[in-house]
Amino acid sequence: MSNEELEQLRASLDDKNMEILKLINERAEIVQKIGGVKSKSGTKRYDPVRERKMLDLIAEENEGPFKTSTLQHLFKQIFKASLEMMGEDEQKALLVSRKKQPDNTVVTVKDEQIGDGNQRLIAGPCSVESEEQVFTVAEALKNRGVNLLRGGAYKPRSSPYDFQGLGVEGLKILKKAGDHFDMSVISEIVTPGDVETALDHLDVIQIGARNMQNFELLKEVGATNKPILLKRGLSATISEFMNAAEYVMSRGNTNLMLCERGIRTYETATRNTLDISAIPILKQETHLPVLADVTHSTGRRDLLLPAAKAALAIGADAVMAEVHPDPAVALSDSAQQMDIGQFNEFIDTLRNEQLLKDGVG
Ligand code: PEP
Ligand code: MN
Repeated sequence: MSNEELEQLRASLDDKNMEILKLINERAEIVQKIGGVKSKSGTKRYDPVRERKMLDLIAEENEGPFKTSTLQHLFKQIFKASLEMMGEDEQKALLVSRKKQPDNTVVTVKDEQIGDGNQRLIAGPCSVESEEQVFTVAEALKNRGVNLLRGGAYKPRSSPYDFQGLGVEGLKILKKAGDHFDMSVISEIVTPGDVETALDHLDVIQIGARNMQNFELLKEVGATNKPILLKRGLSATISEFMNAAEYVMSRGNTNLMLCERGIRTYETATRNTLDISAIPILKQETHLPVLADVTHSTGRRDLLLPAAKAALAIGADAVMAEVHPDPAVALSDSAQQMDIGQFNEFIDTLRNEQLLKDGVG
């Protein structure tokens, strides 16, 4: 083929591109007119039956050389872009998404606001073990201005032979500590049947990583108005995480917070891999407060401080970390909890480096 011939073919290709461009925009104008008619009559813009008819017509009329499946795929992209153009991607816009609500959700827990721009700490033991243990930690936290106390009463352990938590006794101890020190208490609930009891004892119900897709539990807590802290599943994608949050929100509960707590990867140097970029992604994609659990993500005491710095620097609304009076004898997660001295250093460093504001727990 001579150069001249090639140039001519290229020129005809450019002409065709321009024709397609003109036609696609003319098509978009018709779509907008149809959208106008539909919104007057209150009909939904997305109409799968109509889409199917258009795809069938393309199949009937196609003379090649493109395969029908290829053309149908291309046309589906055009249909999708048309809906998006009108902000009407109804199939995709979740209630948790920023598309649905541009303003940040701020969750009020007792007197504390989470997601209001002041970054906070949530701390406490992995498991509630005794009243004395919880009161010791609560007092230490309160002394440093931390008002959000965590502690597990129902522990989802990998081994059935490990400590399973004190159950409702644990919730009672937490509530007593919360009332005594005027703190908010957070604990994980693992069964829909325990949600009602939890309402009386807790200020925040935590749904743990292993239960992120326990849909019956999500629906149950979604039907309450208690603040919910939903953790990302061990192997959940961000989209799966958002859909799990949608289960809660679609039942009416808008008091929802998300918590990145590390995901399973091939890396064994840490217990899980803290997916640090999930924090700004979730902040962009959703309007919910986003937290980072540095204890369960790293599983390493020596990494708690750098991970917390990173999480706060990247925009987490709060950091969660585990604190125990004597981690060496803790009934769960003994390798990664801080003792009280270590916690004091941890919070001092975050405040000295101005990653945490003074006076904000
Ligand atoms: C916890 O926070 O106590 C806990 C068990 O965490 P995760 O669900 O993230 O493993
Ligand atoms: Mn733990």
